[in-house]
Amino acid sequence: MSSSSSPSVLLNTGVQMPLLGLGTYKLVGPEDVYQAVDAALAAGYRSFDSAAVYRNEADLGRVLKELLPKNGLTREDVFITSKLGPKDQGEGAMEGALRSLAQLDLGYIDLYLIHWPGTQGRVVTDQRNPGNRAESWAALEKLHAQGKLKAIGVSNYTPAHMRELIQSCKIPPALLQVEFHPRLCQTELRKVCEEYEVCFQAYSSLGKGELVTDPVVLEVSKNCERTPAQVLLRWAVQQGVPVLPKSSNPDRIKDNARLFDFTLSDTDMDRLSALDFLGKPTGYRKAELPSDQMSSSSHSVLLKTGVQMPLLGFGTYKLVSPEDVSRAVDAALLAGYRAFDSAAIYLNEAELGRALKQLLPKHGLTREDVFVTSKLGSKDQGERAMEGALHSLSDLDMGNRAESWAALEELHAQGKLKAIGVSNYTPAHMRELIQSCKIPPAVLQVEFHPKFCQTELRKVCEEYGVCFQAYSSLGKGDLVTDPVVLEVAKNCEHTPAQVLLRWAVQQGVPVLPKSSNPDRIKDNAKLFDFTLSDTDMDRLSALDCGHKFCRDASQVV
Ligand code: NAP
Repeated sequence: MSSSSSPSVLLNTGVQMPLLGLGTYKLVGPEDVYQAVDAALAAGYRSFDSAAVYRNEADLGRVLKELLPKNGLTREDVFITSKLGPKDQGEGAMEGALRSLAQLDLGYIDLYLIHWPGTQGRVVTDQRNPGNRAESWAALEKLHAQGKLKAIGVSNYTPAHMRELIQSCKIPPALLQVEFHPRLCQTELRKVCEEYEVCFQAYSSLGKGELVTDPVVLEVSKNCERTPAQVLLRWAVQQGVPVLPKSSNPDRIKDNARLFDFTLSDTDMDRLSALDFLGKPTGYRKAELPSDQMSSSSHSVLLKTGVQMPLLGFGTYKLVSPEDVSRAVDAALLAGYRAFDSAAIYLNEAELGRALKQLLPKHGLTREDVFVTSKLGSKDQGERAMEGALHSLSDLDMGNRAESWAALEELHAQGKLKAIGVSNYTPAHMRELIQSCKIPPAVLQVEFHPKFCQTELRKVCEEYGVCFQAYSSLGKGDLVTDPVVLEVAKNCEHTPAQVLLRWAVQQGVPVLPKSSNPDRIKDNAKLFDFTLSDTDMDRLSALDCGHKFCRDASQVV
């Protein structure tokens, strides 16, 4: 890009990069991207931060092609960053980067980053991660040599990942993009970057919006008569750290750009920096995958089959018509759900299969990115089990208990059912199964919420390494009006539904909230950016009274 008027930093490639860029995570759809980019160009932004996982590369490219001439600008006047999706880490890297280039369709990308040191779908400790990182870097180096990626770098790397890369690379990284704000000063990472001349860039400078209400930030903002957001951004750029505030609001976009006409005093800078690691963390810095990736994919449990299952799944009971299923699945995929729970008796397996086949590509996903559960109908229990399960399989296109289990084991051995488990089993049923099975169950799905804590069943699952999964976490909707739940919700400023779901996932129990309402679907997925205090967890668990909202299996012999 040409040296524009906006303040910039020099990358080790010899190119200038603006200190201010527009973050685009969660800006999706042509209208929203257009409105934000239009406001940003008018406010003087010349840098835009996208990523394959944001699913907005194509819209960003199209919108820029339309808006640059209108603003008297050319391609060379802007600096575009994008990132390799963690699902393409390793052997998919070349294809992934070429896909970003094609989606943006702007001739070249100014800066391309490896989004995450891990590989999507692999545990963080997977021994193949280092090899995958190296393979991705080699692909980026090749495209850099061809002039398609003008600069290459990494994101979310730790000091150890940085050292590993620097020691093995042919072309050193130009930039490291990580979370950085007064509560997370990243002292060690900054030193590593300085040592190796890697530009250190901040994301989530506003703590995803949370830090604008921090009391110290508010006081500094009052002192210097600037908005809290400007204070947070200025704190970074005054240290020479480029920022990427995201907003979809044209006024805020404009406001967030006014960073270069004031200075924070040394005292205010020090007061802000003293917030480092104080107070409660913003929650997402401990995430195992990029914070801007889907919440459900970042949080999962390991099944004994070696497969990860998302902690958050989408319940589909009572979603029947093709339109309802399609609308709900679309909203759920957008909100980050990557697991879907169906059953033969929900009469929606065919609709779910069709909706997923149609919607996965729209969301840039493949069959492998989602975890689909279904269940054998009670009418097929026993000698009809094989037929019943095959019926589920064909509908998705994708009980005599012992006999049913044997049928499921056979389909598991054939690779048609990747994991098999049970639902509504009592401790006695579980012991019976464990004692007689060839393949132990991977999951037990049962009713679980503060009024029904299932202590004995959870112990049995723990004993046998079976994943314990909750259904009816919201008590079929009834629990959202429980006085204790309401009080906890008020305390922690989250919805009663989020409190009930968080209570489960905070114990490592996967949940399956069902909603047909897109706003609720979205809301119910926001479970990984807050923590319930021990007191609130205990208050909720104390509601346990064995109250069931669903059918009781304890009488089934
Ligand atoms: P952020 O910029 O810290 O905060 C964005 C949030 O703050 C939005 O909810 C926005 O809401 C709100 N906001 C914006 N301006 C505001 C203002 N002036 N006053 C009050 N609230 C304001 O969060 P972020 O999106 O996590 O980070 C920014 C960008 O960094 C991302 O968009 C992405 O490009 C990049 N990023 C990269 C990674 C990575 O792994 N490499 C991870 C996270 C982020 P409105 O939209 O309603 O204004």
